[in-house]
Amino acid sequence: MKVYITQPIPEVAEKMLRDAGHEVDVNPENKILSKTELVEVLKAKPYDAVLCLLTNQIDAEIFDACPTAKIFANYAVGYNNIDVAEADKRGIVVTNTPGALTDAVAEHTVALMMSVVRRVVEADKYLREGKFKGWEPLGFLGTELKGKTVGILGAGRIGYRVGQILHKGFDMLVAYYDVKRNNEFEKELGAIFYESPEELLKVSDIVSVHVPLLDSTKHLINAERLKMMKKSAYLVNTSRGPVVDEVALVEALQNKTIAGAGLDVFENEPVLAPGLADLPNIVITPHIASATVPAREGMAVLAAQNIIDFFEGKTSLNKIVV
Ligand code: NAD
Repeated sequence: MKVYITQPIPEVAEKMLRDAGHEVDVNPENKILSKTELVEVLKAKPYDAVLCLLTNQIDAEIFDACPTAKIFANYAVGYNNIDVAEADKRGIVVTNTPGALTDAVAEHTVALMMSVVRRVVEADKYLREGKFKGWEPLGFLGTELKGKTVGILGAGRIGYRVGQILHKGFDMLVAYYDVKRNNEFEKELGAIFYESPEELLKVSDIVSVHVPLLDSTKHLINAERLKMMKKSAYLVNTSRGPVVDEVALVEALQNKTIAGAGLDVFENEPVLAPGLADLPNIVITPHIASATVPAREGMAVLAAQNIIDFFEGKTSLNKIVV
């Protein structure tokens, strides 16, 4: 089968596909293909499978450009970049890479929390700018995590792991809201379930967002809900940017409606909302939560395996069900 990989990923994926007898083309340039460029590439050759990235918008236009493709294997656990309903209508299979990046994303989430509550980035900048004149009794006062409540919005794989790290490592209390109640989470960590996001926001010292981007989760954190959070609370988002109304967040941070934020994802990547990057009370990273060697290799293996299994007629692939 002919497989197209839209941007270089760890080489293990290409090797696995070739070893399984497939012909593989990889976009040689390490840059995001625009929609027009991707359409052009897919029209040039009758590919049977596409291994795509979260930066590729995959919709009817792409399916029309490549009517031979039977599977789109997303190199991500989130699949909001793919019109799965349209794929399903056409009998095209869509897969993702769950699990491989759970630890990487959960650990990065905690890194953002630690950085923002202990003002690590602000202090680093201060030191590099030559402003440090010696130990200061009142300099860079932050807060501690022990005994505080983390509110997990979305207790799936990543939310669960964040809860485990914070409860077991930092003695934090865990509260959560999810559309599905998670008995294991409650049993293992004593996590308290709240019936609505609003109730969770009111009791949390840190809110950590781990829901997928869906119509129902777009702007789940909006101006109204930010006002429900404690003034001393922090918001951390490593899920998808549009889950948080970024303009409302900038306003809340400017007005000190909440204390600070740690963000790995943004509403209109790569562009940031006006004023966001000027705020001192945030820590921001450029969508790197899964950027560890084991996670990215694990994702490559899963994405390739999904394609191999599909063409071998196996049913164990990580197929997205609409
Ligand atoms: P998951 O499917 O295991 O967990 C998602 C949880 O959210 C589920 O428990 C689900 O029931 C819950 N949920 C769905 N809709 C909800 C709603 N309206 N309100 C409350 N809860 C809701 O997924 P995961 O593997 O934990 O990944 C979570 C998300 O993290 C992904 O969808 C992806 O968008 C994001 N992510 C980001 C990065 C990054 O690089 N920053 C990396 C990996 C994943």
